[in-house]
Amino acid sequence: MLIVQKYGGSSVADADRIRQVAERVVNVYREGHQVVAVVSAMGDTTDELIHLVGEVTGSPPEREMDVILSTGEQVSIALLAMAIKDLGKPVISLTGAQAGIVTDKAHTKARILGVSKNRLQAELVQGNIVVVAGFQGIDEDNNITTLGRGGSDTTAVALAAALKADLCEIYTDVDGVYTTDPRVLPEARKLDAVSYDEMLELAHLGAVVLHPRSVELAMQYGIPLHVRSSFNHNPGTTVKEAGNMEKTLAVTGVAYDLNVARIGIFDVVDQPGIAYRLFKALANEKVNVDMIVQSAMRNGHNDISFTCTRDDLKKALQVVENILPELGGKGFTWDDKVAKVSIVGAGMASNPGVAAMMFEALAEEGINLEMISTSEIKVSCIIKAEEAKNAVKSLHDKFELALSR
Ligand code: ADP
Ligand code: ASP
Ligand code: MG
Repeated sequence: MLIVQKYGGSSVADADRIRQVAERVVNVYREGHQVVAVVSAMGDTTDELIHLVGEVTGSPPEREMDVILSTGEQVSIALLAMAIKDLGKPVISLTGAQAGIVTDKAHTKARILGVSKNRLQAELVQGNIVVVAGFQGIDEDNNITTLGRGGSDTTAVALAAALKADLCEIYTDVDGVYTTDPRVLPEARKLDAVSYDEMLELAHLGAVVLHPRSVELAMQYGIPLHVRSSFNHNPGTTVKEAGNMEKTLAVTGVAYDLNVARIGIFDVVDQPGIAYRLFKALANEKVNVDMIVQSAMRNGHNDISFTCTRDDLKKALQVVENILPELGGKGFTWDDKVAKVSIVGAGMASNPGVAAMMFEALAEEGINLEMISTSEIKVSCIIKAEEAKNAVKSLHDKFELALSR
């Protein structure tokens, strides 16, 4: 078999951990399999590099950001390859570029366009274990790019797709995908299986256990993912097509996201083209807008509120300030101390009353809802950030997610 394994930052946090990962990789190789091991930067290296950049400049060019951020993964591939070599097995480390990972030019959030797999295949044919740097690639002009925080998962799935791997395992620091973040709520329950659709929503809504783009690619290429711990041998969670799952639950999981800010604009004129001008201006500055709410019209005026990431807030406020006169708006407010809590479940569409149950749970805790948005398989609410953990707990209790089914 050809097996792609991905080891996250905490799985390779120090020398001991790297040697343990080497043992795991070599054990699989000894069983006669071909192995590609994708690794993240050690521990908090990426955060530390970002912090270091902040000490030098307040406005780093994104191209240079990618040059520095990609170094974290380069350290871990070399160390893991050395540890594997010490165990007597043939191995080679490859950077993203050397592994043929070609991306678009969107520095710091690049998308993989394709994998030129000749080098990878040649190394595998020669009997090498191949260790690949996650999270990075190269654009068509040979610039180093990175895939966005958590992007090593996506490297692994892209390689599994390109090489038509038999298995893609994502090793992390928890036993699998849980009903909510087990570090926030210890009674969270591990799911044996979760559908691509639900996992994609959970990942987009803040469950960092998988990078959203990795789930998208897995779904597109029909690659089942096995999410499991590198700290034990427990079976993890399979992320796969919904088809053969026993039953569809109204609510499968609860996610929360603190990287959210809300902007409200008052009294813009009620006429065609206003929303277009505002959101076009935001898009031009590459601000990703998430929820949008427009109030009912009164006296020829509306209020418009929207959310974006906290990282984009500065840019978004600048846009709003510039365009306000054009919208005829009277002013605006913003709040970066908000959170988004969400419930996700494929069975929601066929179970009336799920949203009402969510609002009931939050009301019982006295939590005020600032914005609401829904789709067939999720309901999200914007609330005060300080209430996020309490909200997650109350929703987890309300939908009895700790009970096994
Ligand atoms: P890695 O470095 O291995 O990529 P991450 O920190 O990116 O690890 O992802 C694992 C973390 O995801 C866990 O430690 C956990 O706190 C968090 N997490 C958030 N939501 C969930 C969830 N629903 N199930 C499992 N883990 C979750
Ligand atoms: N090292 C990168 C990060 O911390 C990528 C990853 O871990 O997946 O975001
Ligand atoms: Mg991760």
